Order: sequence, then C-alpha cells, then structure tokens
Amino acid sequence: MRKPLVAGNWKMNGTRASLNEIVEMGKAYSLALRGKVDMLIAPPSTLLYTASAVALGTGIAIGAQDCHAGAAGAHTGDLAASQLFDVGASAVIVGHSERRADHGETDTQVKAKAEAVIAQGMVAIICVGETKAQREAGKALAVVGKQVKGSIPAGVSADQVVIAYEPVWAIGTGLTPTLADIAEVHADIRKTIARLLGKETAAKMRILYGGSVKPNNAKDILGLADVDGALVGGASLKASDFMGIVEAA
Ligand code: PEP
Repeated sequence: MRKPLVAGNWKMNGTRASLNEIVEMGKAYSLALRGKVDMLIAPPSTLLYTASAVALGTGIAIGAQDCHAGAAGAHTGDLAASQLFDVGASAVIVGHSERRADHGETDTQVKAKAEAVIAQGMVAIICVGETKAQREAGKALAVVGKQVKGSIPAGVSADQVVIAYEPVWAIGTGLTPTLADIAEVHADIRKTIARLLGKETAAKMRILYGGSVKPNNAKDILGLADVDGALVGGASLKASDFMGIVEAA
C-alpha cells in the first residue's frame, strides 16, 4: 500500500554536465518501473531549474536539499520554499544530518522548515538519525524518537511528509546497521508517528532508509517490512548505480 520512493541527494556535487545523469536515469525509468517505484533527484540549487526541465516527461521528480523557514526577506544566501517550487521542486529535504551538524539546525528549526515546505504544497523529506556514540550508548531509539517528535509538524497527512532514517555514522562511510537494527528503528518510528498523527497516517507514511545504500545491498534493506525506499547520497550521482537501487526497490 506504500509505494516505495528512491530519492537521490547530490549534496554539493554536480555542475551542468552532471545533468546527463538525469537524462540517462530518465531513459532507464520505464513506465513499468514508474508504476512500481517513485524516484526523485535533489541536485544542488544551482541546477534545480535546468534539472526540472531535463526531467520533464520522465516521471522523475526534482527536489531541493534545504530551505529557509521564512517566506521572503533579508536572509542572504538562503532560499524560500516558494522559490524552490518556482523552479520545479516538488519536495525538499529538511534536517539532513549534515545541516544539523554544519549549521547547528535544531528540531524546532527543522519543523519550521517542514511547515514552510508543506505550506507551499511540496513534500517535506524529514531526516533523523543517531550518531555512532549514541548508538553505542544504546540510545538510538530514544534519539531518533525525540527527533521525529520534534521535527514533524502537527496535523500533517501521510502524503505531505516522508521520514528518512539516516544513521549519521552510516552516511558516506560504507557502513550500514544490521538489517535487524534498521527494522527495529523503522518499526519504532512508525509507532511514534502513530502516537503523533494516528494509526492510519502512520500506516500510510513512507519511511526511507539512508546511509551507504548501494546497488548490492539495496535489495536486502528495501525488503524490510517498514522500509519504504531509500535516501541515497554517493550512489545517486551515477545513473547506473542509482537505477540499480531503483530496480531493487
Ligand atoms: C545521505 O547523505 O543522505 C546519504 C545517505 O549518503 P550516502 O548514500 O552517500 O551514505
């Protein structure tokens, strides 16, 4: 009942030449695949407009990697949700651990950004995840649960938000939690969503796993009951790698 979503986060990578990867992804994203799995690429903001044009008619959705919580005004270097929507974004990643770490973003700020994204009619992909020290201290569920509670806006529906569980220590490291650990966190996130938004919304909301997903481990991870797709960094930069994950989904 939940259609999987495979989303690629290009981070601070890519120039116009990289748009050819989206062209190649579009060729490989057959109508049969489109029926079974949703696909999204979040390029850097500099490429949003052209990426949207390149993706037109391919079924690939285009997303942004962050936004400001405000509507407009004196915020040098920032981008409002309405500006991202204007250049073709249909979703925005908020609260990625790199933003939480590099820019000190708190759950409250992440929630405000998610509210701005949703108010613009886009999907907020809200990232949560524990550090290595927190996992080793047995605090993964508590940390992630607190982030979910603090970052999801009140009263949202299942089609307005996607949660991405991304253990910080698994991002870009080639390390992944065990399948049992991934399953445990995803099940716990769904329980938290049920408490916040009701059972029906929790049953419909997509929870992605992110952190060193590659074509060779995607099938096992995406086969877990509460895993509804993947948020992919490194392996989303090349069409061949990314489509391997989309096909696994
Ligand atoms: C990410 O940063 O969202 C991510 C999952 O990166 P990678 O796939 O490279 O671990």
